[in-house]
Amino acid sequence: MKVVRTVGEAYDVRRRCEAEGKGLALVPTMGFLHAGHLALMKEGRMRAGRVVTSIFVNPTQFAPTEDLARYPRDLDGDLQKCEGVGVDWVFVPETAELYPPAFETQVVVPRLSRGLCGAKRPGHFQGVATVVTKLLALFRPTVALFGEKDYQQLRVVQTLASDLNLGVEVVGLPTVREADGLAMSSRNSYLKGDERRRARALSAGLRKAQRAVQSGERQTAAIVGLVRGELAAAEVKEDYVEVVDGETLEPLETILPDRPARLLLAGFVGTTRLIDNGPL
Ligand code: AMP
Repeated sequence: MKVVRTVGEAYDVRRRCEAEGKGLALVPTMGFLHAGHLALMKEGRMRAGRVVTSIFVNPTQFAPTEDLARYPRDLDGDLQKCEGVGVDWVFVPETAELYPPAFETQVVVPRLSRGLCGAKRPGHFQGVATVVTKLLALFRPTVALFGEKDYQQLRVVQTLASDLNLGVEVVGLPTVREADGLAMSSRNSYLKGDERRRARALSAGLRKAQRAVQSGERQTAAIVGLVRGELAAAEVKEDYVEVVDGETLEPLETILPDRPARLLLAGFVGTTRLIDNGPL
């Protein structure tokens, strides 16, 4: 496994794969890797001859009030984990390598970015879409792997890749969870004391919603009410709870038989903001 740090070295990775006639899988991350990230890398290993992972805490997707400065980092541990699952290259650029002083182009996916996390984190998906487009342009992977854990991000990336004819297959993989249901996240490391136990309310609310739909509930107001009850009981402060169309992310009043419906939610456990989602 090789660590690459510059744009020039990234182009060399692409050229090497072309010369070898091998496909390349890209797994973009912000590091502090857990089993959810590693599942993406293992799937990349299955789908392409070569795998590159990026570790970059992208400043443009954080608002000034957010946790950029204290975002958890462990590069040595991350590199060991990447090596353990057979990653070929880890791209660890400095911020100035991706955003030199003259940088100004932005990628915007306006409709999919409008609601949910996009409404609560203005500018977030513009930052995500722009950095992911840069990574796809640098490495020109045959396949790129993302987690359903960040479902709105997955839909934004799938849409920009298709709209801009980037010629990459964007694959979404199911959320990897802790034994009690909590979605794995680098931000879970912020949870202190009983916050870890209270954080279960997000996945518990999601499961309750899924059971209600299995039992015939179709009114999204009732489903959202169940989830809110679960969050309130654990003193998790709602950021949003919504049932939306799984492709367009438009809000739904009723779950229809011929459209995919999905519950997305975000809440604060103490000061830590966590998200979760799943199909209904
Ligand atoms: P992050 O490092 O949080 O930016 O995440 C990097 C990639 O890993 C994104 O595609 C995430 O959706 C994905 N990811 C994060 N957590 C999980 C999880 N628990 N299960 C599956 N994928 C995940």
